[in-house]
Amino acid sequence: MHNDKYFMNIAIELSKTGKYPYGAIVVRDGKIIGRSDSLTSVSKTIYSHAQLVAIEDALNGKDLMDGLVGCTMYSSCEPCLMAMEAILYSGINNLVYGINIEASNLYYNHVEDFSILDIVKKINPDMNIIKGLLEEEAMKVILDYNKKIIDSDESFIDVAIDISRNSFYPFGAIVVRDGKIIGRSDDNVPSKNTVFQHAELIAIDSAVSNIKDSISRGNLHECTLYTSCEPCMMCQEAILAEGISRIVYAATIEDSNQYFCKEYPVSIKDIVERSNSPIKLVEKLHRDKAISVLKEHGRL
Ligand SMILES: [Zn+2]
Repeated sequence: MHNDKYFMNIAIELSKTGKYPYGAIVVRDGKIIGRSDSLTSVSKTIYSHAQLVAIEDALNGKDLMDGLVGCTMYSSCEPCLMAMEAILYSGINNLVYGINIEASNLYYNHVEDFSILDIVKKINPDMNIIKGLLEEEAMKVILDYNKKIIDSDESFIDVAIDISRNSFYPFGAIVVRDGKIIGRSDDNVPSKNTVFQHAELIAIDSAVSNIKDSISRGNLHECTLYTSCEPCMMCQEAILAEGISRIVYAATIEDSNQYFCKEYPVSIKDIVERSNSPIKLVEKLHRDKAISVLKEHGRL
């Protein structure tokens, strides 16, 4: 009979190959009956949390309610609210996890989560929970994943800065989803011919028209906007309206004021905080490169 460490190692191995750095399995009588890398219907939706995919795989068409009584879930990370609901409904009696949910928040692109173990214990006092098993190994996967995102941020911000170098005004922006550029400010979209031709707006228009025929709001969830300069108020509004998840910018509005032209010093950080939006900000990445483009262009 295999022990908990054996199964947790398998969950952690799955976390290395998933779209996001999490893995989970469901075990019954010493046998794995559900895995987070299986191709279930839930794995094709945005709710494809590792634990949900593993549960759906384990159910194999059976009803969720009490379908997994007697089973153990091994998860590289403490489950979120959504996954806990499914775990409780399924009747899973044993939960073994690696890192706690606060640690998973180190994940560069993660929306804040919080532990609800106290609530779970109230709902099902008989649930056995083992925390922190192979925590270090599970954490290493998160850190490696972060490193990959940081590396790709560095190359994408360089694309935006390169566009700024070759543009009429020294600004450039791109929109990226799933590692692919879906909108660029040097794209030929209608707004280019209006007075509202800021790089961020053109990149957003370009992305929206590439994924949908008509312009509508809220289409850019799970997208990152890379922009050579911190967005102005007008562009900030468009970013919020389209539901962009992350912003990576290089030069600050103050830099633009100093080296190129007057802009109102409204910080995107303040606006994001004020809007209560979950947008993640990466500030001043390759700022020097963007400043050198502003300087080369000279003051308006
Ligand atoms: Zn703007």
